[in-house]
Amino acid sequence: MDFEFPEEIVSFREKVREFAEREFTPELARKFDREEKYPDELKDRVIREKLVDPSDPWKTLVAIEELCRHDPGLGISATVPFFGEEVLLLFGSDEQKKKYLEKVNNGEAMMGLAVTEPGGGSDVAGIKTNAKDMGDHYLVNGSKMFITNGGIADYLVMLVRTSEPDEKRHHGLSTFLVETGWEGFKANKLVGKLGVRATNTAELQITNMKVPKENLIGEEGKGFYYIMTFFNISRVFVAAQGLGIAQGILDRSVRFVNEMSHEDEGYNREQIQFHLADIATRVEAARNLTYKAASFLFQFKPDPMITSMAKAYASEAAVFASEKAMEITGLFGLTSDLERYFRDAKITEIWEGTSEVERLIISRMLRKAQAGEQ
Ligand SMILES: Cc1cc2nc3c(=O)[nH]c(=O)nc-3n(C[C@H](O)[C@H](O)[C@H](O)COP(=O)(O)OP(=O)(O)OC[C@H]3O[C@@H](n4cnc5c(N)ncnc54)[C@H](O)[C@@H]3O)c2cc1C
Repeated sequence: MDFEFPEEIVSFREKVREFAEREFTPELARKFDREEKYPDELKDRVIREKLVDPSDPWKTLVAIEELCRHDPGLGISATVPFFGEEVLLLFGSDEQKKKYLEKVNNGEAMMGLAVTEPGGGSDVAGIKTNAKDMGDHYLVNGSKMFITNGGIADYLVMLVRTSEPDEKRHHGLSTFLVETGWEGFKANKLVGKLGVRATNTAELQITNMKVPKENLIGEEGKGFYYIMTFFNISRVFVAAQGLGIAQGILDRSVRFVNEMSHEDEGYNREQIQFHLADIATRVEAARNLTYKAASFLFQFKPDPMITSMAKAYASEAAVFASEKAMEITGLFGLTSDLERYFRDAKITEIWEGTSEVERLIISRMLRKAQAGEQ
């Protein structure tokens, strides 16, 4: 067992850190948060400098962690243009990959993934957006909610119902590659989110949208499995978001206590030291779980239980750190960049499966493993 990354990743992390220190200024982070604007140019620079390279998952994971450490809103925005592409990569045809993925990977186009609906996100099998088979195309009607990149993406992987559910509710779902320029597609940007305000989030209205047959991804009726496979990948990257945010909060909290303790003895008191120690311990535990889940996944042996543990734990570590940081820093925290981290941390507990959903998966896996042993 080796807890060190190879030299190539260590120097890559340095490169990402230097980029973030140079480009993610507090002024810029505050501006995009306040204006709720997607940082398009920053995203272009991240892609141009190859800081996020979908063909290298370890580098992508490290980049997400480091960029979120320096600012969650900018970090997530800059690393999300490829969101959903794994579905195409794993289950799409060669033609689909050639037509769409090349443009996404070189930064010419942006992707997203549309699963959640106004009726709920956790119950994926309960989606209502439906597609009617019209012979040479499908006719799609319905709506989607809280879709990241929804108002700016060129392409979306969309989960739809192509046949009525039988005894299993998750049967009859399919994934389509949808072009957002098609007639019948409408996106309304959502404003006033609690956090990650630099990211673009939209609700989608789909009215009689024609989807060519060749834009069905994989097999009809297999959409639920494709999306679950995707979540087993994306949850590892959300764990990296949580880890990065928690580390960023720790950095700021330690710096604050060190600086203040010279002038005010109060910052040396035990309670403050305990808070720092508790945040640091969670960051370290989150790091180990995240890298373990990633290690399994990147060797093509994903472990859904470890993945869900990593996702739930790292996101909760970020939220825990954000709350303790407020106790440590008081008025300073409420009026500094920590305030933004406090708001931004929460989303990691929600998207790609809430903490409750992750716990259900963990328990299911535990029980399945035990039943299998008998
Ligand atoms: C900023 C933002 C960006 C997002 N981006 C995307 C995106 O790009 N694509 C996309 O498809 N979705 C996206 N989402 C949606 C996100 O994935 C959902 O919010 C999430 O899955 C939870 O769904 P929900 O909000 O509908 O809550 P619900 O599913 O209605 O859940 C409400 C509460 O009930 C709990 N709960 C639900 N079911 C159970 C259960 N069986 N047992 C115990 N507790 C349960 C949940 O944990 C939660 O606390 C985004 C959301 C946000 C806020």
